[in-house]
Amino acid sequence: MKQSKTFIPTLREVPADADVKSHKQLLRAGFIRQNTSGVYSYLPLGRRVLAKIEQIVREEMEAVNSIELLMPALQAAELWQESGRWDAYGPELMRLQDRHNRDFALGATHEEVITSLVRDEIKSYKKLPLTLYQIQTKFRDEKRPRFGLLRGREFIMKDAYSFHATRESLDETYDDMYRAYSNIFTRLGLNFRAVIADAGSIGGKGTHEFMVLSEIGEDTIAYSDSSDYAANIEMAEVVVEYKASEEAMNELEKVSTPDQKSIEDVSSFLNVPANNCIKSLVFNVDGELVVVLARGDHEINDIKLKNALGATSVELAEEQEIKELIGASIGSIGPVKLPVGVKVVADNAVKSVRNGVAGANEDGFHFVNVNPERDFAVNDYLDIRFIQVGDPSPDGNGVIKFAEGIEVGHIFKLGTTYSAKMGATFLDDQGKAQPFIMGCYGIGVSRLLAAVAEQFQDDNGFVWPTQLTPYDIHLVPVNVKDEAQVGLADDLYSLLQSYRYDVLYDDRAERAGVKFADADLIGLPVRVTVGKKAAEGIVEVKFRHSGESFEWQKEELVDRLN
Ligand code: ATP
Ligand code: MG
Ligand code: MG
Ligand code: MG
Repeated sequence: MKQSKTFIPTLREVPADADVKSHKQLLRAGFIRQNTSGVYSYLPLGRRVLAKIEQIVREEMEAVNSIELLMPALQAAELWQESGRWDAYGPELMRLQDRHNRDFALGATHEEVITSLVRDEIKSYKKLPLTLYQIQTKFRDEKRPRFGLLRGREFIMKDAYSFHATRESLDETYDDMYRAYSNIFTRLGLNFRAVIADAGSIGGKGTHEFMVLSEIGEDTIAYSDSSDYAANIEMAEVVVEYKASEEAMNELEKVSTPDQKSIEDVSSFLNVPANNCIKSLVFNVDGELVVVLARGDHEINDIKLKNALGATSVELAEEQEIKELIGASIGSIGPVKLPVGVKVVADNAVKSVRNGVAGANEDGFHFVNVNPERDFAVNDYLDIRFIQVGDPSPDGNGVIKFAEGIEVGHIFKLGTTYSAKMGATFLDDQGKAQPFIMGCYGIGVSRLLAAVAEQFQDDNGFVWPTQLTPYDIHLVPVNVKDEAQVGLADDLYSLLQSYRYDVLYDDRAERAGVKFADADLIGLPVRVTVGKKAAEGIVEVKFRHSGESFEWQKEELVDRLN
């Protein structure tokens, strides 16, 4: 591409309104321009880097049988009403009306559209599993659009959705996606961690965020250097200690201990790894389900409970009751998440805590990956302490460190949250209608452009790695009035292109200082400068990454670059 023909409006001054270095640099080097708050144009160079990111995303999606489609950004309000999110989503959803005063939203996400599409077209388990994705513009009226492309109001997302007949099938696709995401961020050259995340309002069971470690990240993650443990701090281990009085403890010790169901029985229902689980049993106390959390060495049983609670009847809950209780609220990777309104008591504090929640006063039996307030009620009986730097890692390996992260990807097991609400069913192998079991998987494609811009730069400008660079080679004749220079540069332009290099050819009649400053800002991996030695067929080749430069004969250029 001849630089005189393209559009690269570089800036000499650092833009005053840009607050982080990726944003500054993308503006200065002429990759993007802001249109209005949180809304950007991707200029030719920015578009080219985006295309490379998209290509890597596409390759890794296709590798796990995720198939591309494109859905509408303009979405009828009726769909969002079916899922209940027309009201629930709040002011972040961009809403508008057509000329007949009918309500619409601009897609903030596409669960509703895809669920209705699949509902209408897929009728049998034989067509499952099915995973579809798109790369498309999303709209969210963020409260604080900032940091350039990192938090836009109009941005580009890759969003994939999977449909399954069984939980096992969802688990498989989730694991495939986890690997595909790891491949994508590795290929992009990013320093990232996959972290246990908060399912938030979207609901569901099991979710990871992919975080690029960066000081400007808006999330904090807790991780261990000696293991894979990493969690968003919102979900990191919460140590909950309950303040049982000695007296209450002694009372309980006196109560006899007849037969009881083992903790393992219940934790296997709950699908929670035993060591990650609060010791818990579910009892039906006078017709009300009560989750009892036990201390490690403390046995729980119905008689003890009956006495302690002063109840008339206490029975272990039926399997069916437990299933209903845990419903959509138990994470397969987390511990018991307690639905709002369920009473929880701790066995060694039953006298004092009837309606509260407690963890255990012993290592290994703490709540892990829960969100106080949302997953359980916080009250005066509880001492809550978030995990801290230097704490032992919950998996026992190493100590906890904190880091800031940029959320670049997020994968969710949705379960039947959307399909059940929207009546999206298929016929199973018994001919019975079942709601689709779903997963969803997002990547912030335009946010990634900012994340890579943040990482791949130095004081002079960008330092693009080969897999992301907008062009491979910057070809710069110093003086375009010099015939020898122009002749050699023209030859090299054709030659390098014939070897399939993408070449940016600075054919502009600008001063050398301007050309070099622009070339530094743009930051292509290789710069070939054609200067005073052009008549001898010698060019200067400079590698942006290492800073090394060489004088090479034009004949040896292609061989040496390879
Ligand atoms: P955040 O916590 O940063 O607001 P989110 O959790 O709301 O993000 P998701 O709904 O999980 O975002 O969307 C999937 C991906 O889309 C995110 O992981 C992120 O990379 C990207 N994304 C979300 N909001 C924005 C935004 N306002 N601008 C750019 N990218 C975004
Ligand atoms: Mg958000
Ligand atoms: Mg988030
Ligand atoms: Mg998210």
